Amino acid sequence: MSSDLSAANIQALTERFEQQLKMAQQQQDVELIKRDWLSKDGIVKELFKGLREVPAEDKPSVAAALNDLKQRVESGLEAKEASFKQSALRKQLEEEYLDLSLPESTPGLGSIHPVTYVEERITEILRPFGFQSVHGPELEEEYYCFDSLNIPKYHPARDMQDTFYAETGHVLRTHTTSVQARMLQARSLFEGKKLPLKIASFGKTYRNETEDASHQAMFHQYELVWVEEGLTVANLMGLITHIIKELYGKRRKVQFVPKFYPYTEPSLGPKIDCTICRSAGCPSCGGAGWVTVGGSGMIHRNVLKEFGFDPDTVSGFAFGLGTSRLASQMFNMPHLRAVYENDLRVLKEIV
Ligand SMILES: [Zn+2]
Repeated sequence: MSSDLSAANIQALTERFEQQLKMAQQQQDVELIKRDWLSKDGIVKELFKGLREVPAEDKPSVAAALNDLKQRVESGLEAKEASFKQSALRKQLEEEYLDLSLPESTPGLGSIHPVTYVEERITEILRPFGFQSVHGPELEEEYYCFDSLNIPKYHPARDMQDTFYAETGHVLRTHTTSVQARMLQARSLFEGKKLPLKIASFGKTYRNETEDASHQAMFHQYELVWVEEGLTVANLMGLITHIIKELYGKRRKVQFVPKFYPYTEPSLGPKIDCTICRSAGCPSCGGAGWVTVGGSGMIHRNVLKEFGFDPDTVSGFAFGLGTSRLASQMFNMPHLRAVYENDLRVLKEIV
């Protein structure tokens, strides 16, 4: 090497280095060139070793040329590395580019359905009373929906609760009272008629109904049944009034009007003053200023007898609250249909 150590050779080496650097396509190439030229046994180190054998008079100029070469190699590699890093960063930024001016594509946060909200609120209000939550089938046997509830075939009440019949003879349940029938039967057959029986059940019910502002072919009910010795109609009215006042506030008015249901005697229809028209009369309340929010009554003797309970010692009450009506009153929806239309303007109001 020493014999080659002249200014001319150093110049030639510098050009070789420049050529290699120019050919580098990526960061890895730069690493390889660096290893060749600047490592412990790299070209630059070897050249400096050869300096010892250069004649004394040439040493200063050769050493200066070597130093120039070393600096050129170092700065050249450094610049090339920096330019590769720069373009890698630019590429990354291009790939990760986020245009904040574009409209958002997320569908927004969901909210709870008005009927679910009312169901959850009633469940919460009832918690201290110790009701057992149960569910029954929507496609029901006629026995549980009608026959066992004092509604034999050809009874006029079947017209009032006309529904949809399946080819199997099953019906879409017209009320959650069918769950009451199933629970009374189960308590009688499998649990030695143990009392009290306190059940809560909510879900969908169906009627063959001409739809209007306050009637739908499908609606939701919240059923409560309490069977025990010594219960009276005062217990029934007290519990319904409690639920309504807890739902809407103490100033909400509740009244009970006489009703007829084959499975209760006496039967009462709880009504609340209409919030939508402030009792002035509107389609939602049929112009009456009051909205019927369910059906209730003391369980009929025949129903208790059907399931083996003695109506002379045991009494009970049952009521089904129309949770879709309660929801339309709670969220000021004049048309019951709005509860089921999935209109986002309605749904986003609910927390
Ligand atoms: Zn009204």
